[in-house]
Amino acid sequence: MIIVLKQGVSKEEEEQVRSILREEGCLIREMSTGDETVIGAVGEVSRDIRVFEQLPGVAKVMPVSQPYKLVSREMHPEDTVVQIGDVELGGPRIVVIAGPCAIENREQAMTIAREVKSAGAVLFRGGAFKPRTSPYSFQGLGEEGLKILAQVREETGLRIATEMTSPNQVDLMIKYVDVVQIGARNMQNFELLRSAGRIGKPVLLKRGLSATIEEWLMSAEYILSEGNEQVILCERGIRTFEPYTRNTLDLSAIPIIKNLTHLPVVIDPSHATGLREKVSPMARAAIAAGADGLMIEVHHDPSKALSDGPQSLYPEQFGQLMRDLYVIAPVVGKQLDFGYLDKATAAPILPSSRIGSQRRAVFAGEMQAFAHKAAMQFFGSGINIDSVSSFRTVYKEVKEGNSDFGVIPLENSLTGSIHENYDLLLEYDVRIVGEITLRIVHALIGHPETKFEDIKRVISHPQALEQCRDFLENQQGWELVAARDTATAVRRVKEEGNPGDVAIAAREAADLFELSILKEGIETNARNYTRFAVIAAHALDNGPKKKSSLVYATSNKPGSLFDTLKIFSENGINLVKLESRPIHGKPWEYMFYVDLEADLESDELQGVMEELSENAEFLKILGCY
Ligand code: PEP
Ligand code: MN
Repeated sequence: MIIVLKQGVSKEEEEQVRSILREEGCLIREMSTGDETVIGAVGEVSRDIRVFEQLPGVAKVMPVSQPYKLVSREMHPEDTVVQIGDVELGGPRIVVIAGPCAIENREQAMTIAREVKSAGAVLFRGGAFKPRTSPYSFQGLGEEGLKILAQVREETGLRIATEMTSPNQVDLMIKYVDVVQIGARNMQNFELLRSAGRIGKPVLLKRGLSATIEEWLMSAEYILSEGNEQVILCERGIRTFEPYTRNTLDLSAIPIIKNLTHLPVVIDPSHATGLREKVSPMARAAIAAGADGLMIEVHHDPSKALSDGPQSLYPEQFGQLMRDLYVIAPVVGKQLDFGYLDKATAAPILPSSRIGSQRRAVFAGEMQAFAHKAAMQFFGSGINIDSVSSFRTVYKEVKEGNSDFGVIPLENSLTGSIHENYDLLLEYDVRIVGEITLRIVHALIGHPETKFEDIKRVISHPQALEQCRDFLENQQGWELVAARDTATAVRRVKEEGNPGDVAIAAREAADLFELSILKEGIETNARNYTRFAVIAAHALDNGPKKKSSLVYATSNKPGSLFDTLKIFSENGINLVKLESRPIHGKPWEYMFYVDLEADLESDELQGVMEELSENAEFLKILGCY
């Protein structure tokens, strides 16, 4: 049951509730729900529920309706984010676990690990103890396999997920592994579940071959009841009458799981389909359906694989899939981050003038404005994110060393560039060190009692009003009011308390200010994306760079812009953006802002840079990232 305590409950009253629960033999869990004190209690209680309701300091008592308790959303309304080294599974960044079915030898594991890492996987998988249908099939290398996995982690930085098949492997798991996998065949091996729960490392729990979702969640409950909340659910296909695929992938489990539990869910399309060519379509569908991650089998030479060759992707196919996911993820409000692991290790930590050594990023606007969302998606939770009052302040904070990073919007797919930021990039000596694209879905947000007919004023950022123009033009007599950013608009609606006022902003801003959504998806074109740049005072040494941004001016003679563009073309460099901005104080003269798909500061492209400098009157690299 869930016990909500009254505001201002005394320590003694709270202790009395806990002591009765302990007497009843309940498991007691603190619950995170804003400012209220809420206690979750699991176990059969002999006392009537009304006894608890009448205790001093208790506001209300709610029984948990599901048979699984710790796993249920009722007990834990927020999503659980499982932390595996620098990787957060369950947040806005898609986590891809990839590797062979089984570890066969060091060479094989290392080759595949390098391939999947370079394509963007952040965890490595591979079985050392293989539960095989036939006792005559390859059973895995055992501890030898775990040692190879540990070497893979050492050399690549990828954390390791591998299957535990017996409680007597606990010590080995503690020694070598980062994520303990419980296989489909063992989903209801309750001794094994309990031992996995006691290891204290994240557990990936596969759905049984013919388990219902409820049975699967009950198995997860075993792990949580041992005090381990770091559980990842993995759907890997269930047995149906359909023989064409190895199993039938139950993608509908994703929204069901998201509703019933706070635990993250990943999809394993490899074991689900058993057929290589079916893996990528199902993986794409899983991300579109809201999965937090994927587990995918990859092998560099599948025809010689000792297990599951026919369902293993070739590294090139895996790379292509990752590129597809990179495009799909923002559509459903997530990101596939190719620099995930590099970012965590290479980001600068400013001198210790600030409190603690936590890194800091700033953005302009109110909390839950789109720039805030971009910062959260780019960095995850390992950083302090603060709001400042203007774009200029973002640059100043970064330049003066008060913030490691700044997040600024550069352009929107419907309304074009945010010119102020292009000018500021030129004015301040900062570097672009990353970029992130967010899909912008606008909601009409008002007071809970506001009805559509009551609306008189719509408050939002001018760009947001512009992006919703078709919707707004169809309404009669609404006054449009500009605000500094979308979340500020929501704050105004909240604070001014006028039922005729609504704001246009992201759904998250409505949640933050506890307002209601009257309508969602009101942007004129659903392909509404904003690209943000992440800036720092200096370049980062964080692995391979795929893109460069630069700005230059050419002389005012015929063909001079063409001469510079020719350099890119002749060197096979793809130009992805070209924009001109007037030079302040020089009417009719222009600066050209260019984005390229190449690392212009790499040694190989030094010649290109030299040629470009000769042809440009002014040249500045804004960043390679
Ligand atoms: C595996 O992932 O290696 C595996 C054996 O999968 P499952 O337990 O889903 O069959
Ligand atoms: Mn396999």
